[in-house]
Amino acid sequence: MAAPNNHLSGQPTRSCATGLRCPKCGQTFPLSETEAFCPECSRCLDVTYDYELAAQRLKQLGLAERPQNVWRFDELLPITDAAAQSRVGQVSGFTPLIRAERLGAELGLTNLYIKDDSSNRPSFSYKDRVVSMSVARLLELGKTELGCVSTGNVGHAVSALAAKAGVPAYVFYPNRLEHTKARVCRALGARVCQVDGNYDEANRECRRLSAETGLEFANISLRPFYSEGAKTEGFEIIEQLGWQAPEHIVLPAAGGTLSSRAHKGLKELETVGLAETAHTKIHIAQPDGCSPIAATIVDGRDAIEPVIPTTIAHSLAIGAPGDGMLVVDAVRARGGTAATVTDEEIWAAVDLLGATEGILTEPAGGTAIASLSKLIDAGHIGSDDVTVAVITGNGLKTIEDHPDKPWPTMVPCEVDAMRDALDQLRDGAAAGVGA
Ligand SMILES: *Cc1c(COP(=O)(O)O)cnc(C)c1O
Ligand SMILES: [Zn+2]
Repeated sequence: MAAPNNHLSGQPTRSCATGLRCPKCGQTFPLSETEAFCPECSRCLDVTYDYELAAQRLKQLGLAERPQNVWRFDELLPITDAAAQSRVGQVSGFTPLIRAERLGAELGLTNLYIKDDSSNRPSFSYKDRVVSMSVARLLELGKTELGCVSTGNVGHAVSALAAKAGVPAYVFYPNRLEHTKARVCRALGARVCQVDGNYDEANRECRRLSAETGLEFANISLRPFYSEGAKTEGFEIIEQLGWQAPEHIVLPAAGGTLSSRAHKGLKELETVGLAETAHTKIHIAQPDGCSPIAATIVDGRDAIEPVIPTTIAHSLAIGAPGDGMLVVDAVRARGGTAATVTDEEIWAAVDLLGATEGILTEPAGGTAIASLSKLIDAGHIGSDDVTVAVITGNGLKTIEDHPDKPWPTMVPCEVDAMRDALDQLRDGAAAGVGA
């Protein structure tokens, strides 16, 4: 493989990032800081911006001329080198916002939209947004290797985006790694290691591994930059609704990056004068088998109690969520709430979304839809409220996990037998039975 060209142009992007700041003690650091965590409180650092400058720049260059991808609002992203940005590629982000009339009718909502990251590129999940920032940052730092710790989708995004940027990728998976996950990463040129511990244990040791070896980890040592990519979910939802912020956004939560940064992104749009977003409630969705953030919200507690995950929603199986309290604060600040759902409810919701909207999602998306249904039943979402449910991942990745149904019956390959079979299938459809 050719050595990557790390001579960047030095041309600036429109980024208005000014530095890094500890969300707990407020200590500030230059943007060039390479430590991801505050030395005092070990909290992950947060990127700060010059919002006046961002507002000016956003006005100067009309959005119509801008590419429809993750870099569209780069005033509010932390990447400052244009060559790093362009080497990451232009395919991530700006996924469709789909009006979901048929699903809405099933759930009793007249204004339901699906934000469809199951079709995100290059690796078909929301993680393409955040890992795009990590890879660009890696290139800015002149580093030539990328690691990650993953429950599934981060590994796919790192493998694909590192391949495109020409840097080797190392993916560390916790135990109970599924074969398809390793195969996807390897087919994208990455090297895969399985670690005999759960995600939270693997994450802890990868943090040490990164410190001891200098290997940058997309979601550990580059985390302040990674997290900023999740704001693009919020930016796009508001723009795609014609700059009219919805009443509700329902998001699945694992470590809490997506939901806390969607909140930050909405606040920023208000700050730079693009939209009024203060009324938008953020609700989070978690599986019963791993709901440390939802439990904190619902019980009104002020600290997250870590859990040992047991859920089919592997991409949501983070028992010690790093951004958990940021999510709790965001949900409370916006007057939202949380719902939790069983594995059976998750699969039923995956099938409902598939059969009503033609969107195949993984259990994380099923968690969002099943939770949406509970939020409606509990009266948190009214039937005419403009509501967006975020579908974060693609169901082809997890199709082998779907609960078994009887294998399709084999009939003679002959029209009479097939006509009888069709009659039976039609009866099944009329009875609402999947065949
Ligand atoms: C990672 C992930 C999430 C949750 O993301 P956090 O930012 O960790 O809360 C949701 N859905 C899918 C498919 C994911 O891969
Ligand atoms: Zn601090």
